[in-house]
Amino acid sequence: MTKHIFVTGGVVSGLGKGLSGSSLGRLLKARGLRVIMQKLDPYLNVDPGTMNPFEHGEVFVTDDGGETDLDLGHYERFVDENLTQDSNATTGSIYSAVIAAERRGDYLGKTVQVIPHITNEIKRRISRLVSDDVDVIITEVGGTVGDIEILPFLEAIRQFRLDIGRENVFYIHVTLVPFLGPSGEQKTKPTQHSVTELRSRGIQPDAIICRSEAPLSSDLKRKISNLCDVPINAVVNAADAKSLYEIPLVLHEEGLDRVVCDVLGLGDHPVDITEWEALVARVEAASTPVRIGLIGKYVSLPDAYLSVVESLNHAGIHHGADIQLEWIQAEELEGMLAEGRLRDLDGIVIPGGFGERGVEGKIAAAAHSREANIPCLGLCLGMQVMTIEFARNELGLTGANSSEFDPRSPHPVIDLMESQRDVTDMGGTMRLGAYWAKLKPGSQVARAYGEEVVSERHRHRYEFNPAYRSRFEDSDLVLSGESPDGRLVEFIELDGHPFWVGTQAHPEFKSRPDRPAPLFREFVASALQRAEGRNPRLGLGEIAEGELTKPAGS
Ligand code: GLN
Repeated sequence: MTKHIFVTGGVVSGLGKGLSGSSLGRLLKARGLRVIMQKLDPYLNVDPGTMNPFEHGEVFVTDDGGETDLDLGHYERFVDENLTQDSNATTGSIYSAVIAAERRGDYLGKTVQVIPHITNEIKRRISRLVSDDVDVIITEVGGTVGDIEILPFLEAIRQFRLDIGRENVFYIHVTLVPFLGPSGEQKTKPTQHSVTELRSRGIQPDAIICRSEAPLSSDLKRKISNLCDVPINAVVNAADAKSLYEIPLVLHEEGLDRVVCDVLGLGDHPVDITEWEALVARVEAASTPVRIGLIGKYVSLPDAYLSVVESLNHAGIHHGADIQLEWIQAEELEGMLAEGRLRDLDGIVIPGGFGERGVEGKIAAAAHSREANIPCLGLCLGMQVMTIEFARNELGLTGANSSEFDPRSPHPVIDLMESQRDVTDMGGTMRLGAYWAKLKPGSQVARAYGEEVVSERHRHRYEFNPAYRSRFEDSDLVLSGESPDGRLVEFIELDGHPFWVGTQAHPEFKSRPDRPAPLFREFVASALQRAEGRNPRLGLGEIAEGELTKPAGS
């Protein structure tokens, strides 16, 4: 029998329910259980694919081409399972399904209502992940208890326990215990109110995860236990941790996985978290500073590049490097270049993106990294930008561009493929999900992967224009990976440069804390070498000419 854990949040949004759920998932997996995760999102968008990254953070892409909430990225990275689009359902997709069924006449003329029709559809979404191969499904309910939008979800998960038996369901409520500076006290009232609200919907939490700045005293835990009617050993404190990788260890220390297993009758499997402990030790030991410039359009909301940042950190942990990110607004890049402010970067990442704004800045960044021998990694739009830069500045193709940004470019080196031209539905035009690529034997990319056939996830409309292939093939820019049928260019790299590599894919979606994505791993290795060369005290690298005579901080 598959067991279900539901995670809700209260008091404020942004408490890290996703990370709490993922961390618990990791612990259950460390007990030998097979875990899968999902997110129910109370907004009306049918999927996050068309949502503005400024507002909602990155769109996480699954192997099967789902455009999902960024929490699925946390789930995959922590639980180390590839999820599918079935792991994300929004109010919009649920209503769409119910309304479509109503139009088909499936309800035989009955009045269609939130209860039972919407709630039944929610329960169907939860149940579709059940299989013989899964012991535990952790379902995070997005939003905050008390929101209007969340009510059908709370009603559905309440009914769910009655449907499948009390012993098969566990409710976790994540709350905040704030610290009031003037009185010097931690306050439990918001937690009490939030639990009262949850109980008014018929859900009594089995455990409460209390987020707090500083650790909670046992007195305070007892108070929460008494007032919220939750056993003291199920009042779990997740005080702010130095790194997010510590959260599974904190929750384990607090006994959360034990309580869950006891209540759900999952047995007392020994838990093996030695690998995760080793990872946390490596995170703490990663000390060589490596400065990476991330040239983006959405830099005011770092969550817009969550998987890219995580992948850089994974690679940093692997090499013992402390990644110091410089968020660079693409539109400001040219000014910064003129002031020489990019000189001290050890590496440049040009991530994915849509729309024209900031593109010229990204092209300038690509040119600078190429000329100054700074390692550069281009992801999706990043690869397109590198291609445009090289075409303009090295192949003499004046006005080269992507037809996304300049439909009248004389040299559309990036263009729509035939099959994409006439599609107008924004939701359905992209190359989405995992695609295979074959790599050029002996290339830098093939060496990084250690394999010649690789699969990475995609999310884009435009492609390297095959009409320009031969011009590139006669240059130092190597087309080092292509689709199995040879039609699409998937990877490029520059001969004779320490690391100037672009990919049409998004390898950041497959990076894991203990298994950095190969291109990120090699990019950071190259950036680390540069960092060591720039600062000989850090390592044995060569000292760049003139480096020692520069005044400090220049
Ligand atoms: N805008 C580009 C395209 O649609 C790149 C997309 C991306 O970077 N994900 O092809």
